[in-house]
Amino acid sequence: MQANVLHTSLVYLKGVGPNRAETLGTELGLTTFGDLLQLYPNRYLDKTHYYKINQLRDSGADVQVVGKIVHLKTVDQKRGKRLEASFVDETGEMKLVWFRGHKWIRENLKLNTPYVVFGRVNRYGSTFSMPHPEMELLKEHQAGLKIAMQPIYPSTEKLSAKGITNRVLSKMIQQLFLETRANFPETLSPVLIEELRLIPKAEALLNIHFPKSQELLAKAQFRLKFEELFFVQLQLLSKKAARKQKIKGLPFTTVGTYFNTFFEDHLPFELTNAQKKVIKEIRKDMGSSAQMNRLLQGDVGSGKTIVALLCMLLAMDNGFQACLMAPTEILAQQHYNNLKELLGKMEVKMALLTGSTKKAERTLLHNQLENGNLNILVGTHAVLEDKVQFKQLGLAIIDEQHRFGVAQRSKLWRKNPIPPHILVMTATPIPRTLAMSLYGDLDISVIDELPPGRKPVKTVHRYDANRLNVFRFLKEEIAKGRQAYVVYPLIQESEALDYKDLMDGYESISREFPLPDYQISIVHGKMKPKDKDYEMERFVKGETHIMVATTVIEVGVNIPNASVMVIESAERFGLSQLHQLRGRVGRGADQSYCILMTSHKLSEDARTRLETMCRTNDGFEIAEVDLNLRGPGDLMGTQQSGLLHLKIADIVKDNPILKLARYHAIQTLTDDPKLEKPENYPIRTAYIHLVKDKALWGYIS
Ligand code: ADP
Ligand code: MG
Repeated sequence: MQANVLHTSLVYLKGVGPNRAETLGTELGLTTFGDLLQLYPNRYLDKTHYYKINQLRDSGADVQVVGKIVHLKTVDQKRGKRLEASFVDETGEMKLVWFRGHKWIRENLKLNTPYVVFGRVNRYGSTFSMPHPEMELLKEHQAGLKIAMQPIYPSTEKLSAKGITNRVLSKMIQQLFLETRANFPETLSPVLIEELRLIPKAEALLNIHFPKSQELLAKAQFRLKFEELFFVQLQLLSKKAARKQKIKGLPFTTVGTYFNTFFEDHLPFELTNAQKKVIKEIRKDMGSSAQMNRLLQGDVGSGKTIVALLCMLLAMDNGFQACLMAPTEILAQQHYNNLKELLGKMEVKMALLTGSTKKAERTLLHNQLENGNLNILVGTHAVLEDKVQFKQLGLAIIDEQHRFGVAQRSKLWRKNPIPPHILVMTATPIPRTLAMSLYGDLDISVIDELPPGRKPVKTVHRYDANRLNVFRFLKEEIAKGRQAYVVYPLIQESEALDYKDLMDGYESISREFPLPDYQISIVHGKMKPKDKDYEMERFVKGETHIMVATTVIEVGVNIPNASVMVIESAERFGLSQLHQLRGRVGRGADQSYCILMTSHKLSEDARTRLETMCRTNDGFEIAEVDLNLRGPGDLMGTQQSGLLHLKIADIVKDNPILKLARYHAIQTLTDDPKLEKPENYPIRTAYIHLVKDKALWGYIS
């Protein structure tokens, strides 16, 4: 019955009505009692203090003042009018200002009557003014609910324009507590409540909206954050469990000749411990009868390719074909060459399929795939085309996943009656704790160790004024036989401008590094693919010394002889992009360098990014900083995971609570996978309502 109350439309809450309900819906996405109850305050203000007008300072803080309006007038301004009230107390005078809603205010405000006004003060000359203050008659204020902390709710321009101020919202929520008698059902088990010393749900809700003390507020916040993250984890975990049960996989039970021959006779180096660990995880996964859906994270240069190859050989040992997809032609070609070289004289039939594969060749290839004469297909998106049919596809590997969407992944599934195992490889590091919590339906393996003997890239930050020194350094490196990248930002919104920057840069570099001593390649997004490839090839072959490029070279290219990466306007790049770009150098035996060029004008965030890059080469550490700077919105996978739409918890700031919630979600489900035990009844009920709301019903049941 209680759950029904929470599903009641807000129209029926006293003081709301159809108009306000509509505004609440469009502005804040609130439609039910339950939604309003979960409109948690952003912050709280201590309203126990009253300021005198002569105590006001230009601090931008929200303050509360008691006084009277002695005069009200309309003032013409550039656009429209503003309403201005002279507000006085025994120490002085200030202004209250409204830019909208004049009529309503004029009709409702009383002159010469004591008010408590509340809001942010600005100073103009010697006068303080408070725009759009919250107003309450002193009499009502004194009779009102005594709460130590005043909640401040999320708001929008439109809400305040339509008179739904913070105070009105607060009143609505009070009304909600009255009408429901604050009889909100418990949603966690007694065991959890006891073990974590949580306050009951109803008490938490009351104190989040009307905190009786700082201490109770903190307890309420903890309880609600924990609960929110706990239920997200329950969803992710049961989704994963459901997938394991439902989706049958191809059990790869054999380790056979292909794998063993390669391992014994062709492995060019000893695997790192991290590579061994990851291969073991993948083997175990593919050996079970459930379909593998695994994300392999490894920093640039950590050696994911060899792992991919070993897995593909395993597929072959079990009588299956495998495919490896890359986001660009250059990368697919590189993978193909790489694998060819690694395999040496081994009897493996492998082919490359890209957009530029000739028709005749393509037809042949299609046939060979279908009758099983090909073991491994390497390619681009072209692999996904319906015409490409395998005899028995057992494993699909996707490199650099962020270029492929979920829809494309599912296309792969349909290439075999029983879906192939899927391994997604990415060099975009995600902080580990976060990754675990983000990916409900992917298992995760991490290569957290670089092959031995790598020299970390030396990274420095230089201002544009130092350009001549940087060029001199480039010349020295080129004289030693090295090659260099000079990268310019390309950001969609200012494409034309960026393009001009690139061309200007190219010209100035051409002047500084003249023919015939220096050869320069240029690659950018406006070039035809064929021209791009041609320029790229020249650089790969060492025919050119400098590659001037936009970020098109970001992903995957492997040119060990390139040892210098100059990033122009580095302040405009995000951290993960900078890290990816830097990963293009440091692939050979020589010391490599990354030079971050910027102007003198730097924001604080930009400074942090540059300092981080200069301090560390560790992708995970960089990802952690990135997450703290930008929040989780840009991380891949966050959109699908539901973790972005949290009402109270913050996966960055509340990471310890997230870990705790995950731990307890695992414990709970291990102990009672279907949540059938009586003590878990509250969890089950809450969970069912939650997934119903989100149309996710069916994971536990
Ligand atoms: P990424 O993870 O960025 O795809 P690659 O697979 O391209 O990395 O490997 C980067 C380089 O490191 C390659 O030249 C590869 O041959 C080399 N490599 C990979 N694993 C090892 C290892 N265990 N020992 C030595 N070198 C390795
Ligand atoms: Mg790679």
